[in-house]
Amino acid sequence: MSDHRRQVPRTDTLLADPQLAAAGERLGRGLVKDAVQRVQQRIRDGEVAPPEAVPAVLASLPSTASSLRPVLNATGVLVHTNLGRSPWSPAAVEAVVAASGTTDVELDLATGRRGPRGEAAIAALLAAVPAAEAALVVNNCAAALALVATALGQGKELVLARGELVEIGDGFRIPDLLVTTGARLREVGTTNRVTLGDYRGALGPDTGAVLKVHPSNFVVRGFTRQVAVAELAAALAGTGTPLVADIGSGLLESHALLLEEPDAQSTLAAGADLVLASGDKLLGGPQAGLVLGRADLVQRLRRHPLYRALRVDKTTLAGLEATLRGPRPPVQQMLAADPAHLRARADRIAARLIAAGVDARAVDSQARVGGGGAPEHPLPSAAISLPAGFAAPLRHGAPPVVGHVDGDRTLLDLRSLPPEADDDLTAAVLAVAAR
Ligand SMILES: *Cc1c(COP(=O)(O)O)cnc(C)c1O
Repeated sequence: MSDHRRQVPRTDTLLADPQLAAAGERLGRGLVKDAVQRVQQRIRDGEVAPPEAVPAVLASLPSTASSLRPVLNATGVLVHTNLGRSPWSPAAVEAVVAASGTTDVELDLATGRRGPRGEAAIAALLAAVPAAEAALVVNNCAAALALVATALGQGKELVLARGELVEIGDGFRIPDLLVTTGARLREVGTTNRVTLGDYRGALGPDTGAVLKVHPSNFVVRGFTRQVAVAELAAALAGTGTPLVADIGSGLLESHALLLEEPDAQSTLAAGADLVLASGDKLLGGPQAGLVLGRADLVQRLRRHPLYRALRVDKTTLAGLEATLRGPRPPVQQMLAADPAHLRARADRIAARLIAAGVDARAVDSQARVGGGGAPEHPLPSAAISLPAGFAAPLRHGAPPVVGHVDGDRTLLDLRSLPPEADDDLTAAVLAVAAR
């Protein structure tokens, strides 16, 4: 047995160390034990001196019992699906922490009787979208589509334009989702053009609903034609056929910077019977699917057995309500950020990096909404430009920083990063430069 091997502190001894025992209480003993075993191996390999065992274990422990780590999003994509979409407002985080224990999500404390689940979140949604008579919250927008297709389309036809057969990402296709519910798709029009006559020709006794899906992650340009919600609604008036619009992005009212993105209020005001949207895109809250619109249809969905399988957790309801009632969430602040302010931040960070000898410069850049929203709408932004070789070590850093490589430079875009993170970003770059 080598000297190193003989000197490796025993697992029990290390786990009994007061600091490691306290870490075990907080993070779970299994997690600390794994870290201890990794450090014991590093001692055997001669990388760590035996007296340094406890500090080495402490340094290697994650900050929480989850392996998901906070990442600095310098991609310039505001709603980045791979980075968890929208970051929450501090108000939403606080509300979620408060609701995570036992909470009155389905109990009326005044009477002691069972109360309607998530009533306050629904009220906040209805306050934000006055054109909606009622609302329902499910797991995500895909769940809202599945519920609508099941409740309104099972054994019937869903009428949908061919140009709206959207793949939303990672191979998931809305038409595939719709048909798994037992609904039949009645495709109308062509890829680039659809007319009111096409829709009219498809309507009949088998029609369950007419569905409009916002092609949120692509545009068709040139010889194109679509039928607006108002036009479709007028044609469906009196037929009893519901018009359902999947707007995706989660804009509740029209946004001056994103005039081409449909919003819930305008879409309902134009005559849609139901609007479906995501909670974690431009709304800036937790993952959720929002269903807004006619009270009788919302009630039908709520009473459908499938709803029970798609309903959301108490923390989602709390986070959604706080997003709606609280201060402007980060995604909306990022969207509204003044390009001159972004450039000033970039100049400040670049100056600190240059002073430390880093090959850095502030540059103008283009950010994007992302998350399948406003694909053709670049947002003027500013970035820190570094040699391309910085990208990987920045991603491996603590905290990890994700930018994007453009030719031989790594760009760290500031529109997708809250200003409070500028110091952490600067420190991360300096740490890489010092290696
Ligand atoms: C993003 C999107 C969806 C899927 O929403 P999730 O909340 O991710 O399930 C559905 N439809 C449209 C138009 C979208 O943009």
